[in-house]
Amino acid sequence: MISFNKAPFVGNELEYMQQAIRNGKLCGDGPFTKKCSALMCEKLKAGNVLLTTSCTHALEMAAFLCEIQPGDEVIMPSYTFVSTADAFVLQGARIVFVDIRPDTMNIDETKIEAAITEKTKAIVPVHYAGVSCEMDTIMALAKKYGLKVVEDAAQGVNAWYKGRALGTIGDFGCYSFHETKNYTMGEGGALLFGDDRYLEPAEILREKGTDRSKFFRGQIDKYTWVGYGSSYLPSDLNAAYLYAQLEKMDEIGRKRQEIYDYYKEKLQPLADRGCLELPHIPEECTPNAHMFYVKAKNLETRTKLISHLREKGVYCVFHYIPLHSSPAGRRFGEFRGEDVYTTRESERLMRLPMFYNLSMEDVRYIVKCLLEYDEY
Ligand SMILES: *Cc1c(COP(=O)(O)O)cnc(C)c1O
Repeated sequence: MISFNKAPFVGNELEYMQQAIRNGKLCGDGPFTKKCSALMCEKLKAGNVLLTTSCTHALEMAAFLCEIQPGDEVIMPSYTFVSTADAFVLQGARIVFVDIRPDTMNIDETKIEAAITEKTKAIVPVHYAGVSCEMDTIMALAKKYGLKVVEDAAQGVNAWYKGRALGTIGDFGCYSFHETKNYTMGEGGALLFGDDRYLEPAEILREKGTDRSKFFRGQIDKYTWVGYGSSYLPSDLNAAYLYAQLEKMDEIGRKRQEIYDYYKEKLQPLADRGCLELPHIPEECTPNAHMFYVKAKNLETRTKLISHLREKGVYCVFHYIPLHSSPAGRRFGEFRGEDVYTTRESERLMRLPMFYNLSMEDVRYIVKCLLEYDEY
């Protein structure tokens, strides 16, 4: 059976984790945590990068730092993972879902303005599959209406838009290092922001509401409870695993790209015959081969294709039941404007296996299974 995903392993993870153990420092903000942040600041030209226990938690921190209050409205696509909405709902926000573009599955930037009201506080673009949303338009809207922009760049680490790393364009960016993402620490994430004024409140929030980060830097001689807080610091043991991956960022990226390009090239004939649709990448985007998806004609065709592939030993998945049609989505939010593409496109999409340690032999086999199938 070819699995859909396996956590990437590049080789130095064990050695670094052993080093972390020998350091005798396994809690948060240790040497490996700092190395990961420094590497990302440099490579991605990010102002501040704080490692967190997940992207969900980074989003929670961003929602808090944006000072979202009960009753505020937050605009996002309905076609996304639950965490995008969860983080804002925890602050009491009402979620306003806007339709997606069928070509990228990202929020349709031309439909955002009509969804803005007096209550709107933030826009949360989700860079699906590491392909950027139309950020110039979104940032211009945010400026016009005085809104915050929180990028859900969970899938967009080391992906770019007009020369800027995803996650560094809005007020906040949120990364995921879950094992299903390009670079991983098992469970983990990061919060990015350019404005240094957020650094102190973000560190306090991440450190249980204390000024312990300042204390560790020797800026104060004791630490105390100073505000709202939770526990969003990952263990240095996890950061050690991540550091091995970040050091090999380009190598991991290249391998994923090789798989992506092979799928794209070999499946093109199916697209030409109208059997499947392949992903589209706008010119200004440089994605990270996070995912390769195909779109079948409709839900029924997709269901049959997935079960055919399972019979052949290939595990493919689909995802995102649109949030606005889920029980919590109906309770905490509403779709504003017409759902032209969200539901329809979500029912057609299927993801192919894509991970660093996937062999090209397996990739060739997956392609062969798709080419042989004749009930598109
Ligand atoms: C994976 C993912 C998340 C959640 O990431 P965690 O690190 O598991 O919390 C959020 N949003 C999107 C779009 C994702 O793909």
